[in-house]
Amino acid sequence: MSYTDEVYERVVAQNPGEPEFHQAVREVLDSLKVVIDRNEEEYRSLSILERLVEPERIISFRVPWVDDNGNIQVNKGYRVQFNSAIGPYKGGLRFHPTVNQGILKFLGFEQIFKNSLTGLPIGGGKGGSNFDPKGKSDREVMAFCQSFMTELCKYIGADQDVPAGDIGVGGREIGFLYGQYKRIKGLYEGVLTGKGLTWGGSLIRTQATGYGVVYILDEIAKAHNDTLEGKTVIVTGSGNVAIYAVEKVTQLGAKVVAMCDSNGYVYDPDGIKLDIVKDIKEVKRGRIKEYADRVEGAVYTEGKGIWTIPCDIYLPCATQNELDLDGAKTLVANGCKYVAEGANMPTTLEGTAYLQENGVCFMPGKAANAGGVATSALEMTQNSMRLSWSAEEVDAKLHDIMVNIFKKVDDAAKRYDMPDNYVVGANIAGFEKVVEAMKAQGIV
Ligand code: NDP
Repeated sequence: MSYTDEVYERVVAQNPGEPEFHQAVREVLDSLKVVIDRNEEEYRSLSILERLVEPERIISFRVPWVDDNGNIQVNKGYRVQFNSAIGPYKGGLRFHPTVNQGILKFLGFEQIFKNSLTGLPIGGGKGGSNFDPKGKSDREVMAFCQSFMTELCKYIGADQDVPAGDIGVGGREIGFLYGQYKRIKGLYEGVLTGKGLTWGGSLIRTQATGYGVVYILDEIAKAHNDTLEGKTVIVTGSGNVAIYAVEKVTQLGAKVVAMCDSNGYVYDPDGIKLDIVKDIKEVKRGRIKEYADRVEGAVYTEGKGIWTIPCDIYLPCATQNELDLDGAKTLVANGCKYVAEGANMPTTLEGTAYLQENGVCFMPGKAANAGGVATSALEMTQNSMRLSWSAEEVDAKLHDIMVNIFKKVDDAAKRYDMPDNYVVGANIAGFEKVVEAMKAQGIV
């Protein structure tokens, strides 16, 4: 049995009930096979893969808080500190009822390679809770965040582990978390990113993930002598990543015709009016259904199936495994040419394989959505320097980073004779830097 298969089997046996983690490891190990095969003995002798798939540390804790009715609620809290070979742990916090240790391990594992691809000195981590901020009052969210941070603050720090936002954790939650960290530790330091602009945040951080997806998409199109101008686009989700992907791709001349949330999707043949989506989602915290009530000609459909609308470009920006094999088949049948993942692992392994086999240019999330964490690292830099860069400066740096990620991914795919296979390219390019650091640092 090959070394990569052996390690995969070990992961499945030793991490039962964590299918998303198995899936993420499978994808990476399959891609790395060509690299490992060239030097299997050395990798085996150093147990590189066994160490790579085992988190350095997982912190799991109780989060008690009091709701508006005076009842005590208890949630689970986690931080997975996966790999610090190239820098302090960096990765978001997710607050969603589906959060469990396996989901956070998949996200933390992906984060190692993503962070490496950015070229910045950040290791991989992820955290969160099964707390659901939806429908909670601001006071309840604050109570939860304060309790969560009271425990988490023992394990993080500006040079140790720097969390950020993710699903369910936006500016409001980062504010409450930061306030509590400062209160307990007495330190005004860059321990979290995604902060408000008046207290250490970076311009463009809010937009960074979505903009970054489109910057790399633009590079893919250029590499295929194509342009985004005039293309029809579907963006799934209607949260942070989705909204700013829509903003940038529209600025570059494409037309977004559909978006969704977890209840259903809206189709607007005239092009999505983003100011209305922002008002529904960012201001009123409402449902995407309301778009169809407010815009003439727009149609709302309850449930899944946004991929049945024909498009040239599909940008999944909602959640893991939202696009399966059937969805991939429908996209191909309708002539879709490009898929760039704004979300983490939104496409199943079967869906990804089908898209690639049928000529769709497919950019995986660890490369396509790396603009968010890259800009978080730029926020860390500004905090350390006690400086704030202008929006233009940050945006230009973000653009450069995404162009460089595309080059690294494209180059690695070509070096291993798999041109246009950006999944393999992203995994190999991300791995190369991490593994060099792991080798240099000895058996730790
Ligand atoms: P948000 O919470 O802001 O938005 C998530 C969106 O996805 C919401 O519109 C949500 O709808 C929708 N959604 C969730 N589950 C489903 C589902 N099963 N079907 C359809 N829609 C669904 O999160 P973000 O935009 O921050 O994150 C989205 C993805 O991008 C995640 O995978 C995240 O890990 C990834 N990511 C985020 C980064 C960031 O900077 N924010 C950086 C890199 C990756 P509803 O409101 O109904 O739940």
